[in-house]
Amino acid sequence: MNQKLTDFFDRQLSSWPLASANYAKLREVEIRTVEVDGYPVRLHFNPARAVSSQAKLDPGSIAARPCFLCHSNRPEEQLSQPLLERYTLLVNPFPICTRHFTVAASQHEPQDFDSSRLNDMLRLAHAFEGETVLYNGAQAGASAPDHFHFQVVNTDWFHMPVETPLPFVNRIVLQGKNPAAITRDFGSLHFNTVLCNLFCRYEDHQWTLVVFPRKRHRPIQFFDGSFLVSPGAIDMTGNLIITRRDDFDRLEAEDIADIYRQVSL
Ligand SMILES: [Zn+2]
Repeated sequence: MNQKLTDFFDRQLSSWPLASANYAKLREVEIRTVEVDGYPVRLHFNPARAVSSQAKLDPGSIAARPCFLCHSNRPEEQLSQPLLERYTLLVNPFPICTRHFTVAASQHEPQDFDSSRLNDMLRLAHAFEGETVLYNGAQAGASAPDHFHFQVVNTDWFHMPVETPLPFVNRIVLQGKNPAAITRDFGSLHFNTVLCNLFCRYEDHQWTLVVFPRKRHRPIQFFDGSFLVSPGAIDMTGNLIITRRDDFDRLEAEDIADIYRQVSL
């Protein structure tokens, strides 16, 4: 990643105690591995993520809360920087990864995906070479379905889900040096972009785009309160982010397979 982006990240952490405390807490994340149908799924106990994974996402709740990605509602300490033509670079104060940016649309516009957003995603991956750009569909893990955003993360503990398929998670991999060909292939896939997670990375002169088509955002266990698991993009790679201690201790292979089968198409 280029020096300017690293500097921006470092400047934000040194000037915002809440953010730096939450990045420090990442070192305390506990991990427990469970074998599911012969494949390892890692549970990550990360209580700071409750703000996102337990967020109320029904239209009434979304309309009633001030949008945390809009300029006028962002914390005073949060630095921003314009990016490409229509985005703003921010540091995510509630990280999953040790370097975790949010790339928010500069205007308040919905989390809808089309070919122009795909084009932006490919350009972002190129600008952040070696980092991973994530997109959560409006009904597949986005905590701000009303304000368009990507995330950009380093992959120090999870990998681009190219080589690590879980048999109960459906995913499609597109790869190549030609963005127009990737865009064309993406357009020929038929799935609902409201219900998907996307990963994009540029490395060794080529792009890799991984698509996870989804059936739903949250499993039945979330709504009956038995497990507050709310899968977004990273969860689909076999790394479940858990925010409640009791869930972390109790989740077993059968529950995990059932949760993945409910949310993956
Ligand atoms: Zn907004």
